Amino acid sequence: MTDTALDETVLRQPAPTAPALPDQPYVYRHRELTEPDWRRFPGWRDTTATDWASAQWQRAHCVKNVAQLRDVLGDLLDDSVYADLERDQRERATMSMLLPPQMLNTIAPDAPRRRFTEAFRADPVRRYMVPLYSDRRQDWPSHPFAERDSLHEQEMWVVEGLTHRYPTKVLAEVVSTCPQYCGHCTRMDLVGNSTPQVAKTRFELRPANRFQAMLDYIAASPGVRDVVVSGGDVANVPWPRLEAFVADLIRVPSVRDIRLASKAVVGLPQYWSSDQVRSGVERLTVLARAHDVQLSVHTHANAAQQITPAVAAAARGLLDAGVRDVRNQGVLMAGVNDTVDALLDLNFALLDGAAIMPYYFYLCDMIPFSEHWRTSLAHAQELQQGILGYLPGFATPRIVCDVPFVGKRWVHQPVQYDRNTGISQWTKNYRTVLDEQIDDPAGVDVHQYYDPIHTLPESGRQWWLRHTPAGQVSR
Ligand code: SF4
Repeated sequence: MTDTALDETVLRQPAPTAPALPDQPYVYRHRELTEPDWRRFPGWRDTTATDWASAQWQRAHCVKNVAQLRDVLGDLLDDSVYADLERDQRERATMSMLLPPQMLNTIAPDAPRRRFTEAFRADPVRRYMVPLYSDRRQDWPSHPFAERDSLHEQEMWVVEGLTHRYPTKVLAEVVSTCPQYCGHCTRMDLVGNSTPQVAKTRFELRPANRFQAMLDYIAASPGVRDVVVSGGDVANVPWPRLEAFVADLIRVPSVRDIRLASKAVVGLPQYWSSDQVRSGVERLTVLARAHDVQLSVHTHANAAQQITPAVAAAARGLLDAGVRDVRNQGVLMAGVNDTVDALLDLNFALLDGAAIMPYYFYLCDMIPFSEHWRTSLAHAQELQQGILGYLPGFATPRIVCDVPFVGKRWVHQPVQYDRNTGISQWTKNYRTVLDEQIDDPAGVDVHQYYDPIHTLPESGRQWWLRHTPAGQVSR
């Protein structure tokens, strides 16, 4: 056979076709990110792209109350929604309103004008950033064991704002404000402005003294290698002060990992894309490399539509500036992202579109008035099972329960789980500052977590009615 004959034989072969795969419960499609057109909102009809890209313009035009929301959305939204929101602010809200334009613009991005109210009410971003009174449970608005500081972080403060909860890690709450306020905020006790329902705890030390006390504790604790710099949101710390604090942390010999926590990568990406912040991050990453420290940024997105080109530009800018990773810690919430499709859409948007690494999804914590957002542990287990196998293993987020007095635990790790009462039992394998105080040997004590009562079977709901003191039942 000549070479020519061989070539012709090969050429005559039918082109290889991909084997037919069985239908999948989730169908992956690459989606281009889009920035919704803010000019669809009456209040921003004349806003230019230059204004939109400015962090100062975004901060100056945040929506802080119902009247300002009306100024932006006008008659796009039915009066009943404004009334619903006003009632929520008065009677239920644990967080005040604060919506940067970037965040508000991702709500109901494709809704036609005549369907806007309906789309706004149903929207996943709206459901957690602009909670309405009618969203909340009327039967059990709060779980009987809901608490303002549900993770008991303040009890584990070793100095003001510094929680030492895990053996090798500390959480430094450097600021008690954010550029945006999420309705479900776990730190509702401390973060943000007081609401009619919640008078907030306030730091007592001045920032400079608090920062120094934190640095002194970390420097005196050679077992601490990992510092989460959080709040609030570090985007609300004046950059020179944040840069100086992080630089001092980098110079602590035992510190190896520093993670800056900022939802603003998603809510106010213009901040992280600004020249001042970008060049400051570059200085920090150069210093971090010199000290063998990994500097990362953690953000908080809960719905795929929040991942827009502006968010991708901020995240990629951080990576270009030398941070090791930008990771996402979302919160699992009913009506927001509690389906396999919603979680996978979000995680592919993060990974493919913005180079943000999916990391965790937390069960919504047991704060007051959060029952309508919370999901049962059983549902979280189903979702964890449902998202396995689609994303790369390194980018498959763990769905975790932050168990009071225990810490983060994967949802498949309870030592017991009674699906009738929704009570799960958890243990831990290390001692915390609180264990030291009560002399509790690691791993022996068992702590509880509770499913939302409305998700239980009738017999379980009746059990809670019988076992809840009358004053704690809101019926
Ligand atoms: S950004 Fe984080 S700290 Fe701030 S309100 Fe939202 S969840 Fe709370």
